[in-house]
Parts: sequence; C-alpha cells; structure tokens
Amino acid sequence: MAIEIQDPELKEMFEHGLYFHGHLCPAMPLGLRAGLLARRKLGVGRSQDKELMLLAETAEGHAMACFLDGVMMATGCTYGKGNCKKLRYGKLAFTLIDRKAKKQIRVSVKAEFILQALKTSPFIAQRKMGVPPQEVKREIAEAAVNKVMNLPEEEIFNIGEVVPCEPEVIKGIFEAYPCEKCGEVVYAKWIRVKDGKFYCIPCSGYKE
Ligand SMILES: [Zn+2]
Ligand SMILES: [Zn+2]
Repeated sequence: MAIEIQDPELKEMFEHGLYFHGHLCPAMPLGLRAGLLARRKLGVGRSQDKELMLLAETAEGHAMACFLDGVMMATGCTYGKGNCKKLRYGKLAFTLIDRKAKKQIRVSVKAEFILQALKTSPFIAQRKMGVPPQEVKREIAEAAVNKVMNLPEEEIFNIGEVVPCEPEVIKGIFEAYPCEKCGEVVYAKWIRVKDGKFYCIPCSGYKE
C-alpha cells in the first residue's frame, strides 16, 4: 500500500506537512484537507504574512494537536507569525479569516465522522493501547491517511458560509529596549517598568 492523494496541491502539502509534523497519522492530513477547503472557499492562497488569520477551536491533546499542524500547513497561518490563535474549545473546528477582503468561513469535522473514527479506526485503537503514533504499523497508518484523504469532503466536514467580518488591526512593533537586569532586548509592549527602570518579564518579578 502507499499514500494515495489525487489533488496535486494537497499532495505537495502532505509531504511538507509530514516533515513538519513528524509522524504519519490521519489527523494532520485531515487538517490539511480542512485548511485547503477553507482557503479555496475564500478564494485565497497561503498566508505569506498576516493576510489570513486562523482561529482554531482545538486544545492540547492528540488528534486536535495533529489536526492543527495540518491546518497551519495548508493555510500558512502559524504560531510563529502570530496569525494562528487557539481558542481551546476542544473541537476539531476553526474559522479562517481573510483580513483583506474582510470575510471568514468556519469549518468543522462532522460529529459522525469523529465518533465513528473513535469507535472503529484501527489507528485510534492502537493509540488507545498506548502505542505512540510513530510506532503504529505502517499499513495501519497508511490506511487511515488514505481514508481521510479520499472520502468526499461532504462526508467529513461541515462547511460554513463565507460571511463578512471585521478583522482586528495588527501593527508591527519596532521599538525595543535592553532589560536593566539581564541586558537582553525586549520589544516595547513586553517591557515592565519598576522604579522608572525597564525590565523583561522574568526579571521584573511580574507574572505577565
Ligand atoms: Zn499526528
Ligand atoms: Zn531581564
């Protein structure tokens, strides 16, 4: 068996996604499909800077964590760039915002799909037994990936309407100062002031 992906863009993203994610599992590819789907409905490419904003309803924990890596890869919205935020609702769902065109779309994984997978997926059965994802047998992982990559999208996803929105304004911060105590440079917004002197958060003694 091998991984079967028809869509050329999805196939390319899968290779990069797998390298970035670190192991073969069905949830990262599920995120790739969901992210690509949302982007195509909005009619936009991957976010080069902050043109797109991703509000992920995922939290920590497997499946959700893997899913978000796929969505980040497909949309170009990343933690590093700051255009990916986690709402921690514990759901396989997200809203993708086109900040320029001021419109957004919400995509979620269908309840039946998740409940069915939790009950019957051989990959998830292995995970429940405590097998780490990278140690699940290759055939089992590939079969799981092929399933999420090849089922019709309407069987997996609830796809919302594209609706107008008012995206938040994001400004770059180009002002920074050294911390009085450790000497490391801190961007202005995160400087803490004590007795008129500038400190970084850890040196200031403040929690945030
Ligand atoms: Zn994974
Ligand atoms: Zn400091």
